Amino acid sequence: MTLDWLIIGGGIHGVHIAARLLGDAGVDPDRLRIVDPGDRLLAQWRRATATTGMKHLRSPSVHNLDLNPMSLKSFARKHRRRDPDVFAPPYDRPALELFNDHCDQVAETFGLADLHIRDRATTCSVDCDGVHVRLSDGREIAARHLVLAIGASEQPLWPDWAPRDDARVHHVFDPGFDGWPSSTETVVVVGGGISASQVALRLLDEGHQVHLVSPHALREHQFDSDPGWLGPKYMDGFRREQDLDRRRALITEARHRGSVPPDVMRALRRAMGRDELRWHEGEIAGLDERHRGLDLRLASGAVLEADRALLATGFVTRRPGGPMVDDLIASASLPCASCGYPIVDSTLRWHPRVFVSGPLAELELGPASRNIAGARRAGDKLVEAARNGAGES
Ligand SMILES: Cc1cc2nc3c(=O)[nH]c(=O)nc-3n(C[C@H](O)[C@H](O)[C@H](O)COP(=O)(O)OP(=O)(O)OC[C@H]3O[C@@H](n4cnc5c(N)ncnc54)[C@H](O)[C@@H]3O)c2cc1C
Repeated sequence: MTLDWLIIGGGIHGVHIAARLLGDAGVDPDRLRIVDPGDRLLAQWRRATATTGMKHLRSPSVHNLDLNPMSLKSFARKHRRRDPDVFAPPYDRPALELFNDHCDQVAETFGLADLHIRDRATTCSVDCDGVHVRLSDGREIAARHLVLAIGASEQPLWPDWAPRDDARVHHVFDPGFDGWPSSTETVVVVGGGISASQVALRLLDEGHQVHLVSPHALREHQFDSDPGWLGPKYMDGFRREQDLDRRRALITEARHRGSVPPDVMRALRRAMGRDELRWHEGEIAGLDERHRGLDLRLASGAVLEADRALLATGFVTRRPGGPMVDDLIASASLPCASCGYPIVDSTLRWHPRVFVSGPLAELELGPASRNIAGARRAGDKLVEAARNGAGES
């Protein structure tokens, strides 16, 4: 059978887009599937957010995976979640547990678990009839339309000095991360943003000795980009910009990379004030492995002795998708900007049969493209495309 829609990636973006295609565009569930190697949908999201120990999302409650932005608020009311901590000020940021329960409800409403193919797509090709996707178990799936919702979570950024084969050095966003200490240790957390800060605070809470090494001073921002990027305030100018190198520069400038919101900043300052958290600003020059631990040499000359290093250094900036997307580009002559990212139309169409979201859509959707707000925006575009007949041709 040929599907109408195949979505590669069952993260925040793939799940929301599936819900929107089914619920808003009337796509028949028998004709839509989501391919993702996780045991369940949103497995990466759950793993990464649980590792950081974050209690609340950084984004407001209207940024959720259901069709209606107010759905998360109604869900909280219906399930009598009246605990004052369920939404944190400012901007009603939902507790992670509430957000995840609500994601489960969205998945249940649309029967998404039954549409999930637990596998990895290894190759895709397109012709005028549709798309052919091969999975790692050898199966082939044919679809009229493909959505690449593959995110960046499989590309954690490892600094050059960090060995990948030392059981005491881990990246907290590694898809197979299993490096959390099981007994009390001295841990060096590396990174300058919200995740590194939250990991450091979680470790302190659990009784570890913690150093936080950040490449720059702590920067405070409520959101990871100005909310003006979610609407016409900044997006009108962004869309008018025809030079894609300039658009890339606007995205880079707009992102508050390596920043923390005020509540996390307060918690860090409290922990530093009590001498519980030792914070160091600077680069790591190298690492020496000792018999029972690590010496991390800072560029300043200081040496930190630790049992373990946890990297919270974010994700690499190169286009996600690896050889699968490289080959698709080559075989279908898909247009890319000089930064390597897709050039797509206003409905996120990269080819008559191929749509993108998340990082792959950012030259069209701007700095918030990777976030939940970006997933919602991509959902709007995909619904528009499906209603205009993309699913029937
Ligand atoms: C700790 C943390 C906290 C965050 N907090 C917020 C927040 O509060 N608010 C907000 O708006 N944003 C937040 N974000 C950012 C953003 O919302 C997430 O990064 C989001 O999860 C990205 O979703 P995604 O679906 O694009 O990608 P991913 O989460 O990367 O999911 C993509 C999926 O595609 C799969 N995949 C990749 N290649 C293939 C293939 N070839 N075949 C099959 N499957 C494939 C991957 O395995 C993965 O499961 C946070 C991010 C992190 C890491």
